[in-house]
Amino acid sequence: MQKEPVRCFIGLGSNLNSPLEQVSQAIEEIASLPGCDLTTSSSLYKSAPIGPQDQPDFINAVVEIYTTLDPHSLLDQLQSLEQQHQRIRERHWGPRTLDLDLLLYGNSIIQTERLTVPHAFMQERSFVLYPLAEISPELQIPGGEQLSSLLVACPMGSLVKI
Ligand code: ATP
Ligand code: CA
Ligand code: CA
Repeated sequence: MQKEPVRCFIGLGSNLNSPLEQVSQAIEEIASLPGCDLTTSSSLYKSAPIGPQDQPDFINAVVEIYTTLDPHSLLDQLQSLEQQHQRIRERHWGPRTLDLDLLLYGNSIIQTERLTVPHAFMQERSFVLYPLAEISPELQIPGGEQLSSLLVACPMGSLVKI
């Protein structure tokens, strides 16, 4: 029997090799993944890097998909897209051509070696919360707070909609 599709949110980020194009192209690629329907994309945003400051600004976005993939298969697909964008893992929180984080997988709370959902730091990152609120303002974070309350506690900082 076909599984009921699950609503998920994916955070995108890039700060290398034409970040605007990397993110725009990745949105199309996510839309084409097997078992995935992309329903909404946020605007693109620009943010200052977290961690090491000696790297370019990031382009960020969040998309909503409905998927029949299980969470780890979805992560596999997202990581293979990162690879297709020639992502090289160097230093922690360093520059990258493409970062795809699985923010939410329905109402699931997942804690495995490879996967923490809701994404570990999403509740404190303006470049996640503001694009997410643009596409789903009423969201309740599973095991957590209303998105609207998180926003009150999270200034936009350097984040700008572009
Ligand atoms: P951060 O997690 O702080 O955003 P990052 O995105 O730079 O940092 P990566 O190097 O992209 O971290 O990922 C490291 C590992 O995180 C991945 O290999 C993956 O297995 C794991 N991971 C755990 N939870 C998630 C998630 N929700 N989405 C994506 N990767 C995750
Ligand atoms: Ca990340
Ligand atoms: Ca990541």
